[in-house]
Amino acid sequence: MHYDCVVVGGGIAGLAVALRLAEAGLSTALIDKLKVGSGASLTNQGIIHSGALYSLLHPQVSALCSEAHPVYRGLFESSIVSRRSAWYVGSPDLVAKHSTLWAEQGIRYGHVQEEAAGEYLLNSEALHCVSVDDFVVSPRSLLLDMCTRCTAAGVEFYTGTTVTRVVVSRGRVSGVLSASGQVFHASNVVLCAGSGISSLLDSVGSRLSRRIKTRMSLVASFESRGMDGAIMSLEYGGPCLSPVDDTTSLAVRYGAPVRWVGERERIPVPIEELTELRRDVSRTLAHGVIDVNSGSAWVCSKTEYSAGAADEWGVEPGYAILDSRRFDDVSGLWSVIPGKLTLALHAARDLVQRMCGSDIGIAPRTSVPVGDAKIFAKAHSMVAVSPWTVP
Ligand SMILES: Cc1cc2nc3c(=O)[nH]c(=O)nc-3n(C[C@H](O)[C@H](O)[C@H](O)COP(=O)(O)OP(=O)(O)OC[C@H]3O[C@@H](n4cnc5c(N)ncnc54)[C@H](O)[C@@H]3O)c2cc1C
Repeated sequence: MHYDCVVVGGGIAGLAVALRLAEAGLSTALIDKLKVGSGASLTNQGIIHSGALYSLLHPQVSALCSEAHPVYRGLFESSIVSRRSAWYVGSPDLVAKHSTLWAEQGIRYGHVQEEAAGEYLLNSEALHCVSVDDFVVSPRSLLLDMCTRCTAAGVEFYTGTTVTRVVVSRGRVSGVLSASGQVFHASNVVLCAGSGISSLLDSVGSRLSRRIKTRMSLVASFESRGMDGAIMSLEYGGPCLSPVDDTTSLAVRYGAPVRWVGERERIPVPIEELTELRRDVSRTLAHGVIDVNSGSAWVCSKTEYSAGAADEWGVEPGYAILDSRRFDDVSGLWSVIPGKLTLALHAARDLVQRMCGSDIGIAPRTSVPVGDAKIFAKAHSMVAVSPWTVP
């Protein structure tokens, strides 16, 4: 079995990359150790950022989000779960500072009247609330959609297959080896394995792996009523909330303490952190919107490329395409880190442009094969179940 490209990892990055490679006419296989969506791509908040969150600290990321945002809305309309725009909340000074930047950067926003804000916010007289065009998708629905497009474009999937090693011969990739001893021969290998990229790069003695960092975030899922859009705090460490569906919402702290994987094998989260998150959520939201005594706490991983430009909160949210020829003298080996769901389309576009030299936009061409029940059934069997909906 020989492919032009083997993509390792079936999260948003792997799916977007595999789809664009297949569209470019390359025979492509996608391999995941579990099911599609077993990593960060299913356990995130599903917010498709307009760029507003990054205007202050990462204006270059903000511009990329602004470009991807309408493309996501057009491609994944049926995956959208929010019924209204996101609300950004903070002190009057902080909101004014951001509003100035949004206006300069062309990000549309509008002030939310105190009475309307009071339906959701506890302290709507003291806080300012601004509506921004971020929307929330169901990550599972997004991945299902991408899986059907990939299948229609001819991508071959291998789930339940762990890649243990990248095979290199005379400075050029020749394929990957699975845990069961199967070799997938390929002219190019693209690592989209999230937190699994580092160990695969180690298998070829790469120097890059120490630049790839995985950190853990605490996410709480709560029972909720009437949360129909994201509510984002602009305050350091404040809560960011997003609906999963009509009865469940997720909460994280923006600017929470960073815990890098690699320092320890197990990642402890102090109970205090969950207590603080619950306290902040109940101080932010009006009574009855979220039941802070319900729900569960989760630890989810985020992988970033450390280019040495971390902000004061210790993060670098941009995307990265790493060519091992440049760093390790190995041709045909690439690593892709999207940083955000929102930036995966950029990452896939850039990779294919660099590999094939063709100039393509960020939107894939292949549409969802409507009416093809076989492809839909196959995609459903391949995509992992959302953790938040499991009791
Ligand atoms: C709590 C949280 C909230 C977030 N919220 C948002 C948000 O609201 N909006 C946004 O845009 N982004 C958000 N993100 C970021 C976003 O989820 C990630 O940037 C993105 O999902 C990363 O996708 P990926 O495909 O690179 O990795 P992953 O989704 O982690 O996929 C990696 C895949 O590789 C597979 N794999 C790993 N090792 C191997 C191996 N050896 N062999 C075979 N397969 C392997 C795994 O099983 C997995 O399926 C959030 C992230 C977290 C953790």
